[in-house]
Amino acid sequence: MSDALRALAAGGEVAVIGLGASGRAAVQLLEAAGVPVYGSDAKIAPGHDLARIARAGVVVASPGVPPDAPPLAAAKAAGVPIVSEIEVALRAMPDVPYIGITGTNGKTTVTALIAHLLRALGRKTIEAGNIGTPLTAIALGGDKPEWMVVELSSFQLHDTPSVAPQVAVLTNLAPDHLDRYHSLDEYYGDKQLLFRNASSSSHRVVNADDAEVMRRTQALPGVPHRFSLKDSHAEAWYDASHAMLMLGGAPLLERHLLPLLGDHNVANALCAALAVWVADPTCQTAAGRAKIAAGLLSFHAIPHRLEPVGEVDGVLWVNDSKATNIGAARTALEGMTRPTVLLLGGRHKGEAYTAMLDAVRQHAKVVLAYGEAAATIEADLVGALGGAVPVERLGSSFEQVISRARALAAPGDVVLLAPACSSYDMFKNYEERGATFRRLALGQ
Ligand code: ADP
Repeated sequence: MSDALRALAAGGEVAVIGLGASGRAAVQLLEAAGVPVYGSDAKIAPGHDLARIARAGVVVASPGVPPDAPPLAAAKAAGVPIVSEIEVALRAMPDVPYIGITGTNGKTTVTALIAHLLRALGRKTIEAGNIGTPLTAIALGGDKPEWMVVELSSFQLHDTPSVAPQVAVLTNLAPDHLDRYHSLDEYYGDKQLLFRNASSSSHRVVNADDAEVMRRTQALPGVPHRFSLKDSHAEAWYDASHAMLMLGGAPLLERHLLPLLGDHNVANALCAALAVWVADPTCQTAAGRAKIAAGLLSFHAIPHRLEPVGEVDGVLWVNDSKATNIGAARTALEGMTRPTVLLLGGRHKGEAYTAMLDAVRQHAKVVLAYGEAAATIEADLVGALGGAVPVERLGSSFEQVISRARALAAPGDVVLLAPACSSYDMFKNYEERGATFRRLALGQ
């Protein structure tokens, strides 16, 4: 391990830029390997030593540091290679097999599902990367897992030259992150780097319903495995006429048994089941399929992602506090099969709420607009809805929002927090908003 890490720095010092959880774990790993390290963070006095960074053998950039930040610009100007913390970890663990997941939406859900399913098959598995635990922290631990399941953002992929997962998973591609990319092509291009080392023996799991995904992956070397919500020729697909998830040519699980809400989660479940099916060929039997089905059954929604927090007096309360943009809120609303009291609000992020109109008409019985964005939401929706769905404007007391929702919801309804806004006007972050929703919903 030490040799591989020393080689990464070409015998020089490694400059780690950004000392969040992953930056700190990278520093620790490099120090443990005896590699000279300079850790630098803009928030920690006296700031970055740009001259020292320019002399480094390699720079390790944390995902949160923008590519044009002074330390990275200094590295680039001096010709110092820049890599991600993931690259450092992969160099340190060349023998641990992993599944790499990227895409615009569903990464975290698919990553957590795959890890859960591999455990259900009896495999010692750790999920890491963008999902929480830094990959270098796993490299530091003595006891290596049989499998790692690694969520990879486009930024991480950009700087991970040796990425070569046993199974590469691309969930979907949609416009995002245009604040950090000059063009969509550039963003999609970074996602595509998941396949940069693909060979004829590589396996990939791809979304057959996503034309952009198929277009960008069709010419790659390796074996494609497709999942689809409609195509019966795909290896994993959803047979809507029988409400059945299918895998490897046979029924996997009845849809109503899947403990996750929404069509997009059917796609996520198919994607994860297929990834595991491909990763571990010993499970490609009826018994293996049954274990995968049992794994799906015992999966719990990830907190704040369409998470059912409880049924109170016949009303189901669903926490999708992570839905901080309009697309995510719309997806959540489209997943509701009961009349829905929709809580929409927080700090406005700039997109027009009219993009949700169809979903609101189809699924919402009332919209409660609250927080800083309340007036904008009201202005966008009221006229366009023409009274078809009432929109009530409330203030910035979350207690009041919840008690109004409780009063409006009848048995059989859902109260859905899918705010389409950031939480920062009223909360520290989306986790605090979701936790408050749960507490108040359950009357605690
Ligand atoms: P990511 O890690 O890629 O941000 P998550 O699994 O955390 O994805 O899900 C975030 C949000 O993205 C969800 O709340 C949902 O609204 C939306 N989403 C999840 N999976 C999909 C999917 N397969 N297709 C479209 N949207 C999805």
